[in-house]
Amino acid sequence: MRSFVYNQLPGRVVFGAGALAELPREIERLGAKRALVLATPEQAAQAGDVAKRLGERSAGVFARAVMHVPIEVARAAREEAARLGADCAVAIGGGSTTGLGKAIALESALPILAIPTTYAGSEMTPIWGITEGGMKKTGRDARVLPRTVIYDPTLTVGLPVGLSATSGMNAIAHAVEGLYAQDANPINSMMAEEGIRALADGLPRVRANPGDLDARSDCLYGAWLCGAVLGAVGMALHHKLCHTLGGTWNLPHAETHTVVLPHAAAYNATAVPDAMARAARALHAVSAPQGLYDLAQSLGAPVALRSIGMPEGELDRAAELATTSPYWNPRPVERAAVRRLLDDAWAGRRPA
Ligand code: NAD
Repeated sequence: MRSFVYNQLPGRVVFGAGALAELPREIERLGAKRALVLATPEQAAQAGDVAKRLGERSAGVFARAVMHVPIEVARAAREEAARLGADCAVAIGGGSTTGLGKAIALESALPILAIPTTYAGSEMTPIWGITEGGMKKTGRDARVLPRTVIYDPTLTVGLPVGLSATSGMNAIAHAVEGLYAQDANPINSMMAEEGIRALADGLPRVRANPGDLDARSDCLYGAWLCGAVLGAVGMALHHKLCHTLGGTWNLPHAETHTVVLPHAAAYNATAVPDAMARAARALHAVSAPQGLYDLAQSLGAPVALRSIGMPEGELDRAAELATTSPYWNPRPVERAAVRRLLDDAWAGRRPA
């Protein structure tokens, strides 16, 4: 029998090729008059274009976002927003840029308008993260959830194929864990399954032709759905492992998700057969863990921790750290079994 709690997050989504043209109207809708545009240094030109589109409603550009939101960068961005009298943050880029917007909103409650250009999904979540003294602190706060998200697939055409693949697998990871979350519910599970399907269909077409706007649209649509799942329900062993590996050994974010996901799914497979059947169906595979592994491999993405910088000698410590204060997980988190999972992920074995 069904029993669940469904908690809908607020937020407005404007989706479509060319949707960036709606930016001035969307800023007006937020009542903002001085928007600070955020980006990474690599996307400074795109930020400049956004500022131009905003015209008088642009307060300036801060193109210094970097991975994992170091506190020093967050402080500098907050100071810049205050100095310019900004009343809104426009974040154009991936999770790192959205994360910087969240760091500003966390203290100032400035509304965020996000324009995602990767598939990470941060724009759909009230989750923030700030790194201080080598430690990443994360939390949930309603103030950091972007008020408006403009998804324009034309902005993702330049996302390199490798990053498209790993970023897409990162999105799929949110949906897979959403399917077996402790607080899973029918709406989010529908979104999760549809999100996996859209990305599993779109990513191979992006690899074949990075300029295929239809494929880019499918992937961004999938990323939206998967991000919404991440924002709405709790994550489990997979996300705990990735946070541990990324935080302690500084492994690259999206690649780590890509490598670990098939193994985390295999770990949980027998505990959550219905969730696995839905994920497998969306992947057009017989088994979800194998389907995830095969998708990553077919996209040319990494499938082994050893190929993304994880030292083999640290696997014991990784297992210890990941199991000391574990997130809720459908199968009990056991140190020896997690150590075996890490060994498989390190070597890049296809799940049995
Ligand atoms: P990223 O934002 O770090 O981007 C990686 C690089 O790709 C950057 O140099 C960026 O400028 C560039 N880039 C982005 N879009 C591009 C495009 N269309 N064309 C060319 N280059 C482009 O990477 P990410 O994977 O999107 O984000 C990772 C970060 O986001 C991590 O710190 C992770 O913890 C965080 N994250 C947070 C949440 C959340 O809910 N809080 C969710 C997912 C990820």
